[in-house]
Amino acid sequence: MSAATSPARQMGKPAIQLLGVNKWYGQMHVLRNINLEIAEGERVVVCGPSGSGKSTMIRCINRLEEHQQGQIIVDGIELGDDLKSLDAIRREVGMVFQSFNLFPHLTILENCTLAPIWVRKMPKKEAEALAMEYLTRVRIPEQANKYPGQLSGGQQQRVAIARALCMKPKIMLFDEPTSALDPEMIKEVLDTMVMLADTGMTMICVTHEMGFARQVADRVVFMDRGEVVESNTPDELFGNPQTDRLKLFLSQIL
Ligand code: ADP
Ligand code: MG
Repeated sequence: MSAATSPARQMGKPAIQLLGVNKWYGQMHVLRNINLEIAEGERVVVCGPSGSGKSTMIRCINRLEEHQQGQIIVDGIELGDDLKSLDAIRREVGMVFQSFNLFPHLTILENCTLAPIWVRKMPKKEAEALAMEYLTRVRIPEQANKYPGQLSGGQQQRVAIARALCMKPKIMLFDEPTSALDPEMIKEVLDTMVMLADTGMTMICVTHEMGFARQVADRVVFMDRGEVVESNTPDELFGNPQTDRLKLFLSQIL
């Protein structure tokens, strides 16, 4: 791919590059020749039917899963088998999952300071001040000394976002962060993500929240059966789908 033809280049240097990426689970080909380039500061929404490979793709980007063919380059670091690249990627890339994955036996504050203290070797006081800053930004500083089980799902997901931000990542990945939430809590989490988008964070978000996609995405990527089928601005992708596969998908979700 040449720099001149890549739309992402016009926005800034590439933060994430997937070049001819293939992945199999046993005999099953789950990522098929994925080519995707995401620029620094770009906000990409990934959508597509269940089982199309969305989670697998973003899990490959922070090496929770390994790809077998092609290259994945994150902030200039090519993901390989070495621990050095793994370490670097885990520091730079924050991830928020559908299930919030907070540590139930730690307080909200401890959940947020654990990795900065142990991975980033940040002094405890500094880590706590940083955690309070992010808990304030996601508008739940008053919950700092509670345990996850005492919070609503929406609050827990906002803690998960704050926790990821405490590692000062350059890139945030979200995998259906609102799918496990009751409808009344979806908005508070989406609002938090909009706030984050406004800071200029590079984001990839798997979601079927099309309102969110229209509001913040620079680009929407539609996946089906392990392939990137279409990739376009939200207006174009939703308003002018090119393939029957995307038309069918949109008719089912909109
Ligand atoms: P999506 O997130 O789009 O719903 P996934 O990336 O989770 O899709 O899954 C893509 C395909 O890979 C599906 O067919 C799924 O069943 C399969 N799959 C996902 N994780 C595993 C795994 N750990 N082992 C085997 N197959 C898997
Ligand atoms: Mg998934």
